Amino acid sequence: MSREFAVCAYCLAHRFWKDTDLPAVERANQDRYLRAGWTKQAADWVCPACEAAGVAVRACPEKQVWETFRWPALSFADFAGICGLCRENFLFSAAEQQRFYEESGVPLEVVPNNCGGCREIVRRQKAAQVRLEELLVDPAGAEDFESIGEIYAGAQRYKKAVEALRRARNLHTDPNEKQRLRARVDELRDKPDSPEPWPLSSYSSNPHFYNEQRLQRADAVRDKRVELGDRWVLKRPDEA
Ligand SMILES: [Zn+2]
Ligand SMILES: [Zn+2]
Repeated sequence: MSREFAVCAYCLAHRFWKDTDLPAVERANQDRYLRAGWTKQAADWVCPACEAAGVAVRACPEKQVWETFRWPALSFADFAGICGLCRENFLFSAAEQQRFYEESGVPLEVVPNNCGGCREIVRRQKAAQVRLEELLVDPAGAEDFESIGEIYAGAQRYKKAVEALRRARNLHTDPNEKQRLRARVDELRDKPDSPEPWPLSSYSSNPHFYNEQRLQRADAVRDKRVELGDRWVLKRPDEA
């Protein structure tokens, strides 16, 4: 008699594997792991009760991609992380993960390190930097120098901003324009440059936060399977 169990990663309830709808791709991957001497387990399977209760959403492994050999995700649950830039807690919700990994084609290894707000700031800064580099190749008229100045001002690089805006002012012949730019230079002249890097690079404060959450669940599932006497639970290589 078969004693293969699927264990829910969220409530640790178990079912006979054959009575679940665990997808074929998961079986195939597990066979590969099994051959490599790993524990056979669907580490993030969500039971129908937990799914109905909204604890986690069922994933669709066929739609996922990953860069290195690993398991597909069978479920997505809300993930709490700490933003590497603002240090605030942020939620990477199950629905967002589904969009991220199954619709946008982001590899499963990629985990956001930053909250949505900071990601948006980094994205905007990078776009501004690309525009700045284009402009700096061959700035021609007053408009170009003004754009350069305003991008530097937005990046709180006031010395460079003032320098570019002064050049823009010198290129203008219209006295109104000259006056407007002079006022802008006066406004920025005495501001100190920001010591922050620009564009911000999102460093990783918690690279394995999400993985840790997954690994904890995987260990709990594995312990439960050992307890159940699941005939497919093997020792991990480091325990052999
Ligand atoms: Zn469950
Ligand atoms: Zn943030």
